[in-house]
Amino acid sequence: MRKMLAALTLVLLSPFSAIAHDEDGEASEVKPDRWTILHVGTLIARPGEASQREKSIIVKNERIERIADGYIAANALGDDAVADVLDLKNAFVLPGLIDAHVHFGGGDHTERREKETGESAYRMLNIIENANKTLNAGYTTVRNPGASGWAIFAYRDGVKKDIFPGPRIFTAGHTIRVGTRDQGGACYDVSSCKKAVRQQIDMGVDWIKLYATCSGSKPCGKEHAPSVFLQEEIKAVIETANSRQIPVAAHAHGTAGINDALRAGVRSIEHGSYNDRTSRSLFKSKGAFYVPTLSVQDNIIKDYETATDEMKPVMEAFMETHPARVAAAHKAGVKIAAGSDAGVTPHGDNARELFWYVKIGMSEAEALRAATIVNAELLQKEADIGSIEPGKYADIIAVTENPLENIEALSEVGFVMAGGEVVKTMAAE
Ligand SMILES: [Zn+2]
Repeated sequence: MRKMLAALTLVLLSPFSAIAHDEDGEASEVKPDRWTILHVGTLIARPGEASQREKSIIVKNERIERIADGYIAANALGDDAVADVLDLKNAFVLPGLIDAHVHFGGGDHTERREKETGESAYRMLNIIENANKTLNAGYTTVRNPGASGWAIFAYRDGVKKDIFPGPRIFTAGHTIRVGTRDQGGACYDVSSCKKAVRQQIDMGVDWIKLYATCSGSKPCGKEHAPSVFLQEEIKAVIETANSRQIPVAAHAHGTAGINDALRAGVRSIEHGSYNDRTSRSLFKSKGAFYVPTLSVQDNIIKDYETATDEMKPVMEAFMETHPARVAAAHKAGVKIAAGSDAGVTPHGDNARELFWYVKIGMSEAEALRAATIVNAELLQKEADIGSIEPGKYADIIAVTENPLENIEALSEVGFVMAGGEVVKTMAAE
């Protein structure tokens, strides 16, 4: 009580800011509210619904307070609040984008000695660099399915504590995979798989990532390859994760691996290259999400000419099958959640994933939904992100061309606000 009164007195003495001390003697600043008003020419508040003209988005601290008609003045908020006003009258404004599949940990900064010891201090430099590229490209939230070491957790928490701006991160730890070494996510029976999941939960994961098949370039990742896990092991992974309300994402290329993971109850399938008719009906009956990572096609197309004779048929199969099956899944009504596999593809080019969606027949609005509303639902964060609505985080981006007419407008994101903080401003016209 004494503490509260002391703090209150200080606030009354200074209308702008005051320093209060708690009983440990640690100073904590009592901050005044921060107000920002965005004057928006065209507002795409919730992709898929009609755009609106000439609006003001009023941001209080890190969240959207309300949206008003017309362009309201800096001093129109009442009391003594004076807002910063940002001019986006010539822009198309939309919610911060979400990428459901990135790997921030890889890059040029990992030290050889670190690779040997498994320590991860230098890996943080990769994460900082990759996260900044991603944020500047208009992606204000990512899911990072699979990471080794602590760096990604530290970075995630730094963003959460507002120590530095960055995309919000939802991350898995070590990928749960078949292996007999009792470490790093490897497991080989029901009991070791439960243990591996609990070890990841202890590290503070938001998601569990499971390798339900091998990588697509290996024989055990091909179309007709069987699942690498036994059904009872997949079930054990999901039950253990769900006991802490943690969802499971399964990497799967081959049909059996996709379908076994869906039957067992994963929340999302990553890649899903050889999904078939059965997969599509399982996606729908289970309410699971499909994260296609179609941008990887860019790499395959680029690398094809120089590939070995052994790899060429594998690549041809992917080029022929993957886009067509994503299109079939979309047509069948499967929920497509945008994920680019950045890390395999270049960080900062995440929107190429959406260009691919339009190329295979999704509308621009559907592609935008995949990277906003649908991904928010995948992450179970619809109350906080995915659209520009009162109460949600002020994760807001702007482009100069209408992305509903030309999705490639997203390759030049000119303005980025993340949690009410401006991280990139548009160059003056
Ligand atoms: Zn990946």
